[in-house]
Amino acid sequence: MKSKDGVLGVMGGTFDPIHFGHLRLAEEARQALGLSRVRVVPAGHPRHRDQPCTSAEDRLAMVQLALGDLPQFELDDSEVRADLPSYTVPTLERLRSELGSQHALVLLLGVDAFLGLPSWYRWRELFELAHIAVATRPGYSLNEQHMGEALRSEFHHRACARPERLAKRPAGMVASFAMTPLAISATSIRAILAQGGSPRFLLPDAVLDYIQQHHLYGN
Ligand code: ATP
Repeated sequence: MKSKDGVLGVMGGTFDPIHFGHLRLAEEARQALGLSRVRVVPAGHPRHRDQPCTSAEDRLAMVQLALGDLPQFELDDSEVRADLPSYTVPTLERLRSELGSQHALVLLLGVDAFLGLPSWYRWRELFELAHIAVATRPGYSLNEQHMGEALRSEFHHRACARPERLAKRPAGMVASFAMTPLAISATSIRAILAQGGSPRFLLPDAVLDYIQQHHLYGN
């Protein structure tokens, strides 16, 4: 990875299942922030939220199907393979050691995830390892009143109004960008499937085919 140029984006998630909200986030971040590539890192055993409904292997397979072989997206299976609790700071430390200290790295989050950062393991260290780019998401607002004091202070201190500036430093800034509003969540897709409904056109057909073939989510 060292030899490749450009700003690297990192998008973690449970992806239970991956859907068009995730994929548009990655694609629109690439364009808005001038990222050369986005690493997609499915969580193996997430600890800061409820446990996934499907195995790490199934979630990994669905992400692989969704990404296909587009060169601008890289699937990173290290959290899934680790068999340890998945935390973002150790993942960024690993990427940082691969990239070197000067390479710009951007962690991509939806607003809901950003507002929940203070519950993450060693969360303040995230800012030393990467920039953070926050995508809009229907139902959530990046309003300082919705942030606890600690997050508000970090946000205030690090906010960057011009996302193109992220490339000039390796880490430490917070930028926000507007993406196409897609009120899609994995929770709602699981609920549709559990009720015998069709989530078609909320997620890639290849992912839906996988769900049906493997009888996931009560399908
Ligand atoms: P769940 O409903 O199971 O909580 P989710 O749909 O929120 O899942 P996650 O895997 O938890 O998906 O999210 C991974 C990342 O993608 C998070 O940063 C989240 O904010 C972001 N994200 C997910 N869906 C959207 C969306 N529709 N618009 C913008 N960001 C999104």
